[in-house]
Amino acid sequence: MAIEKRIALVTGANRGIGYEVCRQLADAGMQVILTSRDATKGEAAAQVLKGEGKDVRFHQLDVTDESGVAKLLQFVKAEYGRLDVLVNNAGVRLDQGLSVFDEDMALVRATLEINFYSALHMCRAFVPLMQAGGYGRVVNVSSSLGQLAEMDAETPAYSISKAALNALTRVVADAVRGDKDIKVNTMSPGWVRTDMGGADADRSLAQGADTITWLATLPKDGPTSGFFKDRKPLAW
Ligand code: NAP
Repeated sequence: MAIEKRIALVTGANRGIGYEVCRQLADAGMQVILTSRDATKGEAAAQVLKGEGKDVRFHQLDVTDESGVAKLLQFVKAEYGRLDVLVNNAGVRLDQGLSVFDEDMALVRATLEINFYSALHMCRAFVPLMQAGGYGRVVNVSSSLGQLAEMDAETPAYSISKAALNALTRVVADAVRGDKDIKVNTMSPGWVRTDMGGADADRSLAQGADTITWLATLPKDGPTSGFFKDRKPLAW
């Protein structure tokens, strides 16, 4: 009997690390749902990967839109009846170099909405579906800037949002502990050459996406509730 393909969903995947993760997960034999907030950009990105022979399809998702998350859940349920891999990748870094004392609160809230609340919405929607299916790999794309051990004032809202994302990882991992085969982890991709990371960053897209793909394909005896970089544990 043919083994069914794993179904993977990636947020913020029209460019950067998320886009590369779609490529790597498709190369690992998965059916990938590439999502992005801009339908035109997302369709174009999916078309390129399809042109390379990858099993990728597009679905629109602005991660801050809770009703959009609910619609996507209905789509995934109707099309596949399950979700195997969720990569919460969409993110923004809006306050580099700004002061925690006087940066615009709208900017702080927008950062938390996109980098933290979106992952919370996604986990609340899709982890129960994983529980029903008895299998799941959740990968939250965090940052070394979210490490409490190294926290500084350089980019306040971004750092706080990634620390919160790490906390969410622990909470969700514990909430599903004991379920059949569900693993929830967070990771830092390192400094990667994307629009966010800039041209001087020391890592390629492939290097940045590698640990995400590793966590998305963990075996049953793999780790859960961890924070990783380069496939190794990172201090919280
Ligand atoms: P990027 O090139 O700026 O891409 C960010 C992606 O997130 C884009 O596709 C963007 O879509 C999407 N996005 C932003 N807001 C969204 C929303 N409301 N709904 C849906 N998608 C949204 O950044 P990247 O470097 O690939 O970053 C990916 C992840 O890695 C982020 O979580 C980031 O914090 C993390 N990270 C990156 C680095 C680095 O050095 N690059 C280091 C540490 C952590 P649009 O095209 O529509 O804007």
